[in-house]
Amino acid sequence: MQRSREGISFQIQHTQEPLTIIARRKTAIAIVGGVPVGSAHPIVVQSMTNTDTGDASGTALQVAELAGAGSRLVRVTVNNDDAARSLPEIASRLADMGVSVPLIGDFHYNGHLLLAKYPAAAKTLAKYRINPGNVGGKRRDENFRTIIQIALDNNKPVRIGVNWGSLDQDLLTTLMDDNARGVQPRAAKEIYIEAMIQSALGSAFIAEEMGLGHDRIILSAKVSGVQDLLEVYRQLAARCDYPLHLGLTEAGMGSKGIVASTAALSILLSEGIGDTIRVSLTPRPGGDRTEEVNVAQQILQSLELQSFNPQVTACPGCGRTTSTFFQHMAEDIQTYLRDQMPAWRDRYPGVIEMKVAVMGCIVNGPGESKHANIGISLPGTSEEPKAPVYVDGKLMVTLKGDTIIPEFLRMLEEYVEKTYGAGMPATLG
Ligand code: SF4
Repeated sequence: MQRSREGISFQIQHTQEPLTIIARRKTAIAIVGGVPVGSAHPIVVQSMTNTDTGDASGTALQVAELAGAGSRLVRVTVNNDDAARSLPEIASRLADMGVSVPLIGDFHYNGHLLLAKYPAAAKTLAKYRINPGNVGGKRRDENFRTIIQIALDNNKPVRIGVNWGSLDQDLLTTLMDDNARGVQPRAAKEIYIEAMIQSALGSAFIAEEMGLGHDRIILSAKVSGVQDLLEVYRQLAARCDYPLHLGLTEAGMGSKGIVASTAALSILLSEGIGDTIRVSLTPRPGGDRTEEVNVAQQILQSLELQSFNPQVTACPGCGRTTSTFFQHMAEDIQTYLRDQMPAWRDRYPGVIEMKVAVMGCIVNGPGESKHANIGISLPGTSEEPKAPVYVDGKLMVTLKGDTIIPEFLRMLEEYVEKTYGAGMPATLG
């Protein structure tokens, strides 16, 4: 894909595909705890804990899990004295575990008080997230300025994160009244979007006026509807060069949350908009919090913006492959790859770009297998019981019998060693 709009282009060389080029919007670059955010730097996946931050042990464990899954920044809520007090201990527990992910503090209502009262918390955090709509009623500007002053004193960047659900009501009322008095009043939704943008940009202006560097500010303006999110971010992107944090707020549970977030983020990222992303999924009770990191990575990898893991291409199956053998095999290979990755990531540079095909019959099986690095096409119902294996586009062997899965996994392992071993990805240019 090639975009003509002005911006920074970056390229990823894939093993068997043409170059993918997406023009990223040119922005200032904010450094968050050593992680650069903006312009051509890789889009940063981030996440947020759902533990009680006052529980230092539980929170540190979840931060470590999120970081282990690939979250490069982790946000924690800082809502009371216990939470603020426990931040240094969380950082120290993470250091003991060998985890060095930057922590971001999420503040609402009392951030100015907590940051002032707990200097160690202010020092521990790599960035402060401020919601201008929730910094405290009549003393909003004063409280906002207090947080910015603490950011200045501690040399920290901030995210000014506006949210549709907690928009600055005074600003919204003023804009609505102005609109109502106009000759041709605009739709209320347009005014909401304008209020969000003005809230974010106005707050950034105040922060810069106080001396916070232009490159110390990241903006977000989250809403829960996909089309609204596209509109607000396109306008925000056109009106400033701050790095943008993308995310659909309150995306929801399960497939609804995943699909809505993917739809919204994919369009904006394909337009070059977005420098750090978070997928806000509601976990099932007791569910795995790292799912939001996996989904964010999969969005970036599906768009060919970054690679995180080898990809398994599997057909959906149909009446031509009625046994569950094919489903088991696709799942076994996916699990095998996931289990190997912690060791493979360092040992086999480039393996994250590998594509493995597992297909259910000969209709699309051999063709799809040829496009993968290594692929297998299983016999469909009433087809001859044999499974051709393609390696780098060539038919290598035909497997038969009950040992198809272990034999294919052995070939896969050999392929990885031969192709990505010895420190260099053999197929990368
Ligand atoms: S490859 Fe074969 S089994 Fe898989 S969906 Fe296509 S026709 Fe059905």
